[in-house]
Amino acid sequence: AKRKGKSAYALFAPEMTEVSHERLQMESLMRRALEQKEFELYYQPIVHTDSGELSSAEALLRWNNPGLGMVMPDRFIPLAEETGLITPIGEWVLHEACHAAMRWKKTMGTSIGISVNVSPRQFRDPGFVYTVMNALESSGLEPHQLELEITERLILDNTIETADILRQLDQSGVRLAVDDFGTGFSALSYLKSYPFDTLKVDKSFVQDVMKEADDAALVRAIINMAHSLNLQVIAEGVEEEAQTHFLQREGCDYSQGYFYSRPLPEDDFRSWLRSNHR
Ligand code: C2E
Ligand code: CA
Ligand code: CA
Ligand code: CA
Repeated sequence: AKRKGKSAYALFAPEMTEVSHERLQMESLMRRALEQKEFELYYQPIVHTDSGELSSAEALLRWNNPGLGMVMPDRFIPLAEETGLITPIGEWVLHEACHAAMRWKKTMGTSIGISVNVSPRQFRDPGFVYTVMNALESSGLEPHQLELEITERLILDNTIETADILRQLDQSGVRLAVDDFGTGFSALSYLKSYPFDTLKVDKSFVQDVMKEADDAALVRAIINMAHSLNLQVIAEGVEEEAQTHFLQREGCDYSQGYFYSRPLPEDDFRSWLRSNHR
């Protein structure tokens, strides 16, 4: 092994202190963020690949902090996971998302499904199933209008509890999706034994379908496999028209990405709805 003297440590130490100071600061700001109403949901349309018509929307969390500005989820969700703050934040997300879907139903007259991301720590919280039921009940949203997105990584450590929670959610009528499909290095057998409804093909595969034959072959194989298991497929990260033609040819059910729309604040999402959805 490489040996380094004291000086290397001395050089490294101030940096570490800086990093942990920033983390501590983020953590204390995040603790207050809920009561200060600094969180906001953006909504990104998920459309039928064939027609381009709206099917549902994915709720994506944003943190507007006066000092930090707009903080993107990749920057604060890992810390929220570590500290456990993801549980109350995730509860707020579920309630807000279900209520938003009901608002759209009331004002537009059409039912729009809503997809919500669930992180592992939140999923394992003993109150999680109750929180989901509570969000549905207090909003009046029908269970099948809500889809929970769970990453492969969560399923990877397949404990009895994971299977049990998935079963309870499935029995309540809530829909279940595998997010970032293909990135978790997991065996595929879980697809057979767990009650999923949808696979979301990770955007890293979708992005190169027109450039890399391997990616095209993978996406084609995922769509065919999903359909033979009675699962629906959403392609995420669709940015170019050529990709939509590929996905139409391959029979991908739903698409999501900047080509259709970026994630939008609720007011802009409503405007998008009015101009794209009669
Ligand atoms: P994700 O669930 O895979 O969400 C999709 C991400 O891809 C979003 O990033 C979205 O803005 C972005 N995206 C959508 N279309 C395109 C496209 O055409 N091209 C490219 N390059 N990107 C596209 P965002 O909003 O920054 O969210 C990042 C991640 O943070 C999400 O990845 C999800 O894992 C997590 N996240 C977001 N909101 C929540 C939440 O409420 N709870 C939890 N637990 N995690 C969340
Ligand atoms: Ca997602
Ligand atoms: Ca189901
Ligand atoms: Ca994803």
